[in-house]
Amino acid sequence: MAKPKGETYYMKRYNIAVIEGDGIGPEIVAEAKKVLDAVSYNEGFELEYKEYLMGGCAIDACGTPLPDETLRGALSADAVLFGAIGGDKWNSLPREKRPESGLLALRKGLEVFANLRPVKVYDELLEASTLKKDVIKGVDILVVRELIGGIYFGEPRGREGDRAFNTMVYSESEVERIAKVAFEAAMKRGKKVCSVDKANVLDVSQLWREVVTKVSKEYPNVELVHMYVDNAAMQLIANPRQFDVIVTGNLFGDILSDEASMLSGSIGLLPSASIGGRAAIYEPIHGSAPDIAGQGIANPIATISSASMMLKYSLGEEKAAKKIDKAVAKALKDGYRTKDISNYDAKDICSTEEMGSIIADLISKG
Ligand code: NAD
Repeated sequence: MAKPKGETYYMKRYNIAVIEGDGIGPEIVAEAKKVLDAVSYNEGFELEYKEYLMGGCAIDACGTPLPDETLRGALSADAVLFGAIGGDKWNSLPREKRPESGLLALRKGLEVFANLRPVKVYDELLEASTLKKDVIKGVDILVVRELIGGIYFGEPRGREGDRAFNTMVYSESEVERIAKVAFEAAMKRGKKVCSVDKANVLDVSQLWREVVTKVSKEYPNVELVHMYVDNAAMQLIANPRQFDVIVTGNLFGDILSDEASMLSGSIGLLPSASIGGRAAIYEPIHGSAPDIAGQGIANPIATISSASMMLKYSLGEEKAAKKIDKAVAKALKDGYRTKDISNYDAKDICSTEEMGSIIADLISKG
């Protein structure tokens, strides 16, 4: 955007904490930044990036998966853009010292209790899924996963002799706030919420079901159904179009959203936003993919789409977010494919870097 002549010109500036992490993290975050730079230039705002360590690279550099400086930086940022953490190198460490503990502590520290994971099937990629086209065409689901409670955080946990245990615990207020996020989202979408639990077996799920039902009374225009998690896992594959918003706990949401990612063709396509706290975190739903790290073949679209969610949810730059989404769809429509989605008529197999540049160029050219 050109600077207007003869006027004092104030450019909007946002402070973004960037955490590349491990494995493919640095490769995919670089492409998201490239795309963000193109769109911010285009739309007349500035992004100031501050880089922080977390995960395995932080363990190597500072001896801890979440250095204080990283948490402080994230707390003072307008938003956090994150790649992924983890890898075999750190797998033998005790749980508290492992890379994943850094991410859990960051989520907890920022109090981001709601993880939004949109699952959309691009028409251009109908062939990339292992499922039949007529089953997945038109799928548009939002998984709302509770992120800082449940079995990943419950106490007591640990090991005693030949036993190991974790505790799945939710309070009414924790369920109420995540249910509200789901119903609010449904109001702006297809007005349907499916709450997933295991209420036929777990006490914690019975409480979950009661509270979600109570919250639903505030949203008479939204249809609520309850589904057991085992059935939901099956229904996602059998008839995914029945779902609009799925709300569920931390563990079930983790598993179901990975499953749902395969509707779209690759885990490398799906973004996420973790919101509700002091600064939101935007990250792909996949991990650090050590099996392909350093090869330049990772799909950066999940991270680029996460950057789009950041513009929309944290910075209020909706127009810029739409430009990214449009450019991603156009790149796919034009036949550009990274290796993970290239099992048919790809124009060319793109590297991570090429895919980022194609999307950034589409934005720059308008
Ligand atoms: P993963 O998501 O890293 O990889 C699963 C499979 O998907 C692999 O075959 C990988 O190559 C592929 N894949 C993932 N992202 C891709 C992309 N952008 N493009 C193309 N292919 C992609 O899961 P995993 O292998 O179970 O875990 C690897 C490491 O990541 C572990 O240390 C795990 O703890 C960690 N992890 C981190 C996060 C996170 O940082 N949020 C999430 C899940 C797993």
